[in-house]
Amino acid sequence: MAAFVEDAANAVLAAAKDMLARGLVEGTAGNISARTEDGNLCITPSSIDYAAMTLEDLVTVDPAGKVIAGTRSPSSELALHLACYAAYDDIGSVIHSHPVHATMFAVTHEPIPSCIDEFSIFVGGEVRVTEYAASGTPELGSQAVAALKDRGAALIANHGMVAVGPTPDKVLHITALVERSAHILWGARLIGAPHPLPDDVNANFAGVYGFMRTYKG
Ligand SMILES: [Zn+2]
Repeated sequence: MAAFVEDAANAVLAAAKDMLARGLVEGTAGNISARTEDGNLCITPSSIDYAAMTLEDLVTVDPAGKVIAGTRSPSSELALHLACYAAYDDIGSVIHSHPVHATMFAVTHEPIPSCIDEFSIFVGGEVRVTEYAASGTPELGSQAVAALKDRGAALIANHGMVAVGPTPDKVLHITALVERSAHILWGARLIGAPHPLPDDVNANFAGVYGFMRTYKG
């Protein structure tokens, strides 16, 4: 059975408010979803400020993307979320964000190497960059799915980040960790040449948090 999130709506809303408070998005950018026990998705709406968002603003869609509950339009990146859940049974939540330092890597098409221990444990290794695909397209979804293989996060070329994991709070933690690592690497490269973690350390840590995943696609 696919992973799902208990009380998905409250978990999505709490993570949305936290994402804004932590400066990982601005205004109405970015989006958060969680898979419910019946296999549907609870997702943040399009163009509603996170500060004012309530449970009533969240939208429920089926795995094909059809709205089955809620009065708002689902996030414009719905196709990205649907593609991630369709490809990976082991994820319960997806967060798409635009944090500044990670997006600097996305704009330069530079992967974020695994340079701190914590990173490998929660992300599974180097964060890859997708090929460019336009926002909101199914192509962006399939690019993200490929870049997320065995990873907790991927960079979306010229756009931002997508992170996946068991629950919204854990995926927000991955998002913040990738952003912090991008910030550290940006500074470290001004000081000198960052040393990546040894390959065997990455391989050992990558299995700890369960990111060695089954890829269905
Ligand atoms: Zn975006």
